[in-house]
Amino acid sequence: MKIAFLKEGSAETRVAAIPETVKKFTALGIEVAIEQGAGEGASIADSDYDTAGATVGARDAVLKDADAILCIMGPEPGSLQGAKQGAILLGALDPTRRTDDVKAYAAAGLQALAMEWMPRITRAQSMDILSSQSNLAGYKAVVDAASLYGRAFPMMMTAAGTVSPAKLFVMGVGVAGLQAIATGRRLGAQVSATDVRSATKEQIQSLGAKPIFVEGVAGIEGEGQGGYAGETSPEYQAAQAELVSGHIAKQDIVITTALIPGRAAPRLISDAQIASMRPGSIIVDLAAEAGGNVEGCVAGEVVDRHGVKIVGAVQLARTLAADASALFARNLANFLLAFWDKEASALKLPDDDELVKAIRLTNGGQVVHDRIKP
Ligand code: NAD
Repeated sequence: MKIAFLKEGSAETRVAAIPETVKKFTALGIEVAIEQGAGEGASIADSDYDTAGATVGARDAVLKDADAILCIMGPEPGSLQGAKQGAILLGALDPTRRTDDVKAYAAAGLQALAMEWMPRITRAQSMDILSSQSNLAGYKAVVDAASLYGRAFPMMMTAAGTVSPAKLFVMGVGVAGLQAIATGRRLGAQVSATDVRSATKEQIQSLGAKPIFVEGVAGIEGEGQGGYAGETSPEYQAAQAELVSGHIAKQDIVITTALIPGRAAPRLISDAQIASMRPGSIIVDLAAEAGGNVEGCVAGEVVDRHGVKIVGAVQLARTLAADASALFARNLANFLLAFWDKEASALKLPDDDELVKAIRLTNGGQVVHDRIKP
């Protein structure tokens, strides 16, 4: 078997292979080929891959006869000319937005598998790219906020007077939110957090932060279906807006991460609420690409409203390319190696396996996944 890793598009800094995963593959007798310069954005030199046992070369040679192509983001279908019929394409393929590309992968005879649709179950935890990348994004959102904030995070008692601690509020306590809380605490901020799922209350407390929850109106009991939030009732939304209004006016930093699968991000902060904050405050909206939790947020930009900076954070994991690549590369390797048949020395992806079923988009020239089938 031969696995190919291509240089990603220009906006991407991460790479889907690290020397450690290359060694894991080659130890099984798998041939690994990597396009020249693929690791540049993550500070991995071609020579590092070479030392780990990969062959580094030009795209055509890397793609030729490859049985699997592993990537961070799905490559432009046109850039896969020469790929073998039936080859696996595994990565974050963004199938709901890039439907035409998925059709083109099918037409090219590729077997495309979308890592972001991996079920959030114990068996697949080590393959979960959403968690590995969101965790880094939650950390970086707080670090970015700290660098934009014109004041310090921790309380400092000095001979020249006392510096008050920053007040940081996290809205949405999934993987990114939990890491944002932990990072805010490490930097010495006073942290509070909210979510619609009642199960997160205990998690917030266990990190030493203060839970801010709507009382008396039902939100989402426990973890929510599949661990995810759903839409809350209009009554709950009104109570949440009132609660947030009272709290947000006293906050210096707000990190929003709220997402609902398959829907636009819920709007959590209005322009009037932003106006109630102290000038110099910072809001980082991690849901910017999904429409934003914050009114006036623009994805990929920093906007000033009423003296408050609103950061429309996009793909923050890319700004930590070395760590993000390492985690992503291990997620990919963990998936492939779970389906490696040692005796046959071959990869076997059974049709009836729950992970394969959940992520396989195309097979035999057709789009086969129910969520995107024509
Ligand atoms: P997500 O990115 O889908 O959403 C982020 C958070 O926003 C969630 O906590 C959600 O409840 C919250 N949210 C949605 N609407 C909101 C609103 N109106 N107000 C406030 N908050 C709102 O979440 P995620 O990080 O992908 O995590 C989703 C779930 O999956 C969590 O329960 C997590 O523990 C679970 N998970 C399980 C596994 C596993 O078992 N393998 C792995 C990772 C995550």
